[in-house]
Amino acid sequence: MLLRRVLLYAADRPFIRNFMLHSRAARALALRFVAGEKVEDVLGAAQAIGEAGFSASLDYLGENVTQFSEAEAARDVYLCLLDQIQARGLNTNVSVKLTQLGLDLSQPRCQEHVAAVVERAASHGNLVRVDMESSAYTDRTLEIVRGLRRRFGNVGAVIQSYLRRSERDVEQLLAERIRIRLCKGAYQEPPELAFPRKADVDANYVRLMRLLLKSGTYHAIATHDEKIVRATIEFARAEGLAGEAFEFQMLYGIRRDLQARLRDDGWRVRVYIPFGSHWFPYLTRRLAERPANLLFFMKNLLRG
Ligand SMILES: Cc1cc2nc3c(=O)[nH]c(=O)nc-3n(C[C@H](O)[C@H](O)[C@H](O)COP(=O)(O)OP(=O)(O)OC[C@H]3O[C@@H](n4cnc5c(N)ncnc54)[C@H](O)[C@@H]3O)c2cc1C
Repeated sequence: MLLRRVLLYAADRPFIRNFMLHSRAARALALRFVAGEKVEDVLGAAQAIGEAGFSASLDYLGENVTQFSEAEAARDVYLCLLDQIQARGLNTNVSVKLTQLGLDLSQPRCQEHVAAVVERAASHGNLVRVDMESSAYTDRTLEIVRGLRRRFGNVGAVIQSYLRRSERDVEQLLAERIRIRLCKGAYQEPPELAFPRKADVDANYVRLMRLLLKSGTYHAIATHDEKIVRATIEFARAEGLAGEAFEFQMLYGIRRDLQARLRDDGWRVRVYIPFGSHWFPYLTRRLAERPANLLFFMKNLLRG
């Protein structure tokens, strides 16, 4: 728990970030979880993932930009990705973070940027998933997703089972038939807002998963937790749901064995593929989730 806190704290410190971005060991570890730094790298990874029988969602890494020019550049990368996905016939959508599109700078400008991405996706018959960031952004993110959904349709939200508010949010989103990706949540949150005990986060996950699967809308169950995956399959079978009624989602490079097993058993699996040069906060969240990753990293750091 303490280690997790330290790592999540480190993710936000610019001097640690700069040091890590120049560390060979950190870069090597990042490549286990990140497809590369360039658009061409992630398109290649999406092609390979597609050939292996999975769909994908592409994430251009970066968050909390401090200049409009960075937000515009991120928007343009997403427009380019969507055109390339279409041109190459890839079975993939995109995942965006609103603070990368300027939410800390101006909500209206951020909305314009994300609307441009969603509009382009709509013109290609594709979907944009709006990732969920820390609780400071939950209300604004859901408000923007709702607005986009009314304007364009092709947009999905993310709900985190660690937040105490999530059941209410799920009910509202379901009433508007908005597609949801359910995950546990990756940020450091205070106990007033988020369940501090893993058992409560997991129990809430299962409760929300059942609401999603019963709703008749196509949702995503995003977890590598085998117990929850099993509970989902059992519930889907008990409800008589077909394999096309929902999808599992997992992160690039994590539990590839489980991804393959689910695919082989006929379930839909989408792999979330991050890329780009701003991989440090993403890497620290993955390290925080699993101390074994940190041991691997420390060994390589000592080797130089
Ligand atoms: C497709 C997808 C999209 C996501 N989008 C968001 C988002 O928008 N907002 C957000 O806050 N969070 C997001 N997350 C992250 C999520 O909230 C969790 O932090 C992360 O998925 C770990 O939780 P878990 O459900 O896998 O369960 P855990 O209980 O953390 O892990 C269960 C098991 O999975 C394996 N595992 C988990 N993490 C790792 C790892 N880093 N390395 C190796 N093995 C691992 C281990 O075997 C572990 O025992 C997303 C996750 C996925 C899969």
